Order: sequence, then C-alpha cells, then structure tokens
Amino acid sequence: MNLDLEFKISKAAEIIQSSKFVVALTGAGISTESGIPDFRSPGTGLWTKKDPMKYASLDAFLQNPSAYWERALDPDGLGNKILDAKPSKAHLCIAELEQLGYLRSVITQNIDNLHQKAGNSDVIELHGTIYTAHCMDCGTKYERKKVLGWIKNGELPPRCKKDGCNGILKSDTILFGEQLDPNTLRKAVDMAKSADCMLVLGSSLVVTPAAHLPFLTIQNGGKLIIINLQETPHDINANLIIREKIGNIMPKILEKLKKL
Ligand code: NAD
Repeated sequence: MNLDLEFKISKAAEIIQSSKFVVALTGAGISTESGIPDFRSPGTGLWTKKDPMKYASLDAFLQNPSAYWERALDPDGLGNKILDAKPSKAHLCIAELEQLGYLRSVITQNIDNLHQKAGNSDVIELHGTIYTAHCMDCGTKYERKKVLGWIKNGELPPRCKKDGCNGILKSDTILFGEQLDPNTLRKAVDMAKSADCMLVLGSSLVVTPAAHLPFLTIQNGGKLIIINLQETPHDINANLIIREKIGNIMPKILEKLKKL
C-alpha cells in the first residue's frame, strides 16, 4: 500500500473517531461489489448504455406501465439482480461501523435493501425500495415478488386486488420526474444538518436533492469524507478524498479505528 493511501486511511479513522454524529450517504457504487451495476461508471454504468428517460421516468411509466412491468421479468434486469443480491464486504463494514457505535445513520440513494440486510438499523431510503409496490389509486402495498408472479401469469399491467379498486400498481422506487417522499427527505435533511461528519460512499453526487446533503453538513461545520472511484462535484469541499474501491478501503479504516 502506498504511503499516501495509508495516510488517508489513518486520517479517515481519526476524523470518524473524533466525530460525535457520523452519517453515511451511499449511492449505487457501494452495491457494485454485490454485482448490481450502477448508473454512471464508465463502460458498466446502466445510463452509459440506455436512456434513463425512456426506462426510468415517471412520464414513460405513465405512458406505458405494461412495458415497465414486462421489463421487470428480465432475469438480467436491474430489478432481478437486486432481488438476488447479497451485502458485500463494503455493506458489512458500514453495518459494523454502526455496531461499534461510530455511525448514527445511513442515508441511501439505493433501492436494494442491502444496508438493512447487512445489519444497519437506521437506513433512510431517499429513492424508495424495489421490494414493494403500491396501488396508484388507493395506496395498498404489495410485495414485488407477488406482483412479479401476477405478471408471469399474463396480468399486464398488474392491478390492485382490493375490492373494486383495480388501480395500476407502481414500484415503490422514485422515478425521474417524481417527487421524493417529503417525510423521508425531511429526515435526511435533519440527519445531514446534525452530522459533524458525512461519509460519502459510491455516489457520483449528481442526482439532486441527495447531492445537496453534503452541503448541509459542511455549512454546519461538519467534515466531509468521500470514497468514490470517480471525481464528484463535491470533491472541492471534501476534507478527504479516497479514490479506491469501498470494499478495499472500509476494512482498513475499521482496522485503524479499532486500534485508536
Ligand atoms: P451513480 O451511478 O451516479 O454513481 C456511482 C459512483 O460510484 C460512480 O461515481 C462510481 O465511480 C462509483 N463506484 C462504483 N463502484 C465503486 C466501488 N466499488 N467503490 C467506490 N466507488 C465506486 O450512482 P448514484 O450517485 O447512487 O446515483 C444514481 C442513482 O442510482 C440513485 O438514484 C440510485 O437510486 C440509483 N441506483 C441504485 C442502484 C441500487 O440500488 N443498487 C443501482 C443502480 C442505480
């Protein structure tokens, strides 16, 4: 390991140890090590191959909900990759950070439930979850796996089974052009404002409002650590930037923390 990286790992451990309210902000990059592609990594990112407005916008869904749900059956699609995925070393380290008492909360842009599967107890899902769907008319919730079963039996688009409702079902994930749940956003904003250290892990920090959250921590005098393979627009504001794989770096930071 080069000296510069070793220094950065020690520095990250020191910042975390001396902070009283550490919050992690995670993005699709933390789940690439679980086999789920992100959106913007060069070559492998989904949006380097497809137009997001065609596949993941509210307008596209409303125009043709059947096409959206039909794609959910694709075994190589994002939805099925997520349902099959297991937490990576990176997720397990973030859970351990909470168990050791260093981490207060995880704000995630991910929809894959992997922080909860890893053992984190306080996870704010800014962009919702792929595990459930709801009726657009009456709000009744359904497990995604159940909905996929109906689609496999030819029901397109899938519809609400509550007496007389028959509304169209929509995944509980936030699509482009859709508002975030205001209570979830309020919780994330409160966490970011309260944090004296924000740990950004695997996010390009270009999707708003999530990308504004580090500003709230910095404005309140908090520190910003970014672990991400690519540059982000917030690099200029960061106290520390580590451009390495999260799963390689977090175990080393934890090791240092345990010795401090
Ligand atoms: P993004 O694709 O814009 O950025 C991911 C970043 O992670 C990139 O900058 C990349 O360099 C970095 N990265 C990839 N693998 C890494 C690794 N192993 N270690 C360190 N860095 C790594 O993703 P984003 O910022 O989260 O925003 C885009 C949207 O992606 C979010 O709204 C999220 O809902 C959605 N998304 C979620 C999932 C998921 O739930 N797993 C998957 C794909 C997309």
